Amino acid sequence: MPSLPPLLLVSLLAVFPAFGNAGPVAEQLSPLPAGSAKITGHIGQQLDSLITARYTSDFARQEIYPETEAALQRRVDDKLGNRSGYWQGEFWGKWMLGAIAAQRYTGDPALKEFIRKAVREVLSTQDARGYIGTYSKTDMTKGGWNIWGMKYTLWALLEAHDLLGDPEFLAAAQRQMDYLMTFVGPGKTEIADTGNFNGLPSSSILQPLVKLYRDTGEQRYLDFAKYIADQLPGVMTKGLNGEPIHGWFPQPEKWAKAYEFTHCVEGLVDLYRVTKNADYLQAAQNIAADIIQNERTIVGNVSQDDKFDHAPLRPDAYSEVCDAVYWERLCAALLRLTGDVTYANELERTLYNSLYGSMNSAGTWGVRRLALKAPHLVSAKHCWMEHQQCCVANAPRGFLQAAECAVMTSPEGPVVNLYLPGIFKSPLPSGGELIVQTDYPESGTVNIRVNPARTQEFSVALRIPDWSKRTTIKVNGTPLTGIEPNSYFKINRTWASGDRIELQFDMRGRVTRFLDANQKFMAIECGPVVLARDSAIANSTMDSTVALATDEEGCISLKARPAPAGFWMVFDAPLVNGGTVTLCDYSSVGEAYKQQIADYYSPPKSVKENIVPQPGVLPAGMENFQVWLPVKATDNLPTPHVRTPPDPARK
Ligand SMILES: [Zn+2]
Repeated sequence: MPSLPPLLLVSLLAVFPAFGNAGPVAEQLSPLPAGSAKITGHIGQQLDSLITARYTSDFARQEIYPETEAALQRRVDDKLGNRSGYWQGEFWGKWMLGAIAAQRYTGDPALKEFIRKAVREVLSTQDARGYIGTYSKTDMTKGGWNIWGMKYTLWALLEAHDLLGDPEFLAAAQRQMDYLMTFVGPGKTEIADTGNFNGLPSSSILQPLVKLYRDTGEQRYLDFAKYIADQLPGVMTKGLNGEPIHGWFPQPEKWAKAYEFTHCVEGLVDLYRVTKNADYLQAAQNIAADIIQNERTIVGNVSQDDKFDHAPLRPDAYSEVCDAVYWERLCAALLRLTGDVTYANELERTLYNSLYGSMNSAGTWGVRRLALKAPHLVSAKHCWMEHQQCCVANAPRGFLQAAECAVMTSPEGPVVNLYLPGIFKSPLPSGGELIVQTDYPESGTVNIRVNPARTQEFSVALRIPDWSKRTTIKVNGTPLTGIEPNSYFKINRTWASGDRIELQFDMRGRVTRFLDANQKFMAIECGPVVLARDSAIANSTMDSTVALATDEEGCISLKARPAPAGFWMVFDAPLVNGGTVTLCDYSSVGEAYKQQIADYYSPPKSVKENIVPQPGVLPAGMENFQVWLPVKATDNLPTPHVRTPPDPARK
């Protein structure tokens, strides 16, 4: 063991102390102050593109945004088509929440003023009862998405109040919620009987409702929040017992709606914050553990067609982008409260694969279903609007959420969760900055410059991913020991400006196997990135079986190749016959496809929902791709990285 410099103490952040029922609920990890992070590299560029395309460009302000506000004035969601009601009402709130998060990230004063003016305009649409929404029958509860839309509006008003401090925004949010409570609740229409999917979309108002309680202190909001939690099917019994969600719902392929359910669980986490009732947190953690075990796919999304229906059992699973965004949100909420590295690992997997694969590089449009096997399903416009679609409206929020989680603060010092290149200011109460220089995950080398405002003792905690079996860390050139995967490695010492941390992660290709009664597949991961075979670069046909040449640890020696335009990373993986199979990172698959179809479907052309591509049907001329590579039934599979699919018989 090398000798360590004086005052250099190294320890693992093992399990953070659990909270009791008494005492304040302290966050283990908190975001940096607004405007502190500036992320560069591939993810930073995508973030910048999304902010420009969807929030700050002339097109965004003059076309995309006004359409969301006009819907609140028109109120036609219950008059459109032959459904019981549409969801035009979600888009104002989604746009506003994304714009507010973008403003927090950039500090853009012009965007702040645009938000102020826009919210003021929307307040003028609030009627005497307090309703802001898109239904002509303002108290509609049967079918449709009325309360769902009200949720997004309530939430956006509260976040706008945080940003701008205008008491009118908070008062408008109260009037909106007070109006809802005149026709939904105990002795009225039960919230579980409203809208669609057993009331799950309506019940997800729980999360902004808890925020309304925190912002006002009004007991009636807390009472209503507890009422919603009690109404949620199974949460406080099955959730606490750790029963798999898949079995909670009759016909889970129809009813176990992932996006809305996940937001309800985030609401439980927030309810724990204000009640200190540990059952709410425990139920949420149990549900998250079940999702990781039984519902989350290799690319970090959590559904089959937006339902908790054992997507990991399907090599051709396809998942809604919103599920990835809200899974990421739930992981972020749990990470802040528990400091459990598991949730940061999940955030990284979702970011580099599902999120980064969801939008075109220009940030203008994306997909509504991400598939493990071609095709992705490109978003068609929703609800007869020209510029809106459910997942396109949420994906930028997912990127902004990741930016807020990259580097966080703890009482002991900065915590690095995601190794994104950039500058992260004020990781300590006294200020200072961390500068992260890296091309990770193209390579496993990360350099961090620690620049405290003054020389002082604190800890820098570094997430060691679960997959990095061999990690090296040096401080000012001195190697450290005791580094374990799937933990935070904490370096406690007296830091001075210019101190350097150098990390080297284990970027060997990892082979994961998948098999069921009839089929065998393998997938390859490199660091946090899942690889895929894509017909645009493949040197073999999509259906050809592969026999990968792995070492005794189940790892594979990947050889990087120059990536053609539209692709980020391309590798050759060795086969036992001496040949290779060419693979790319998952986020690059379908980029040409997304671009081509996004151009076709993008504004100003009008598209109806029913002409979008269908699952499993590859449109003519579009590239083919697959994550799970077929293996000959007679070939042996490497064993170290076994993926155990969930047991479909398990209830
Ligand atoms: Zn969606």
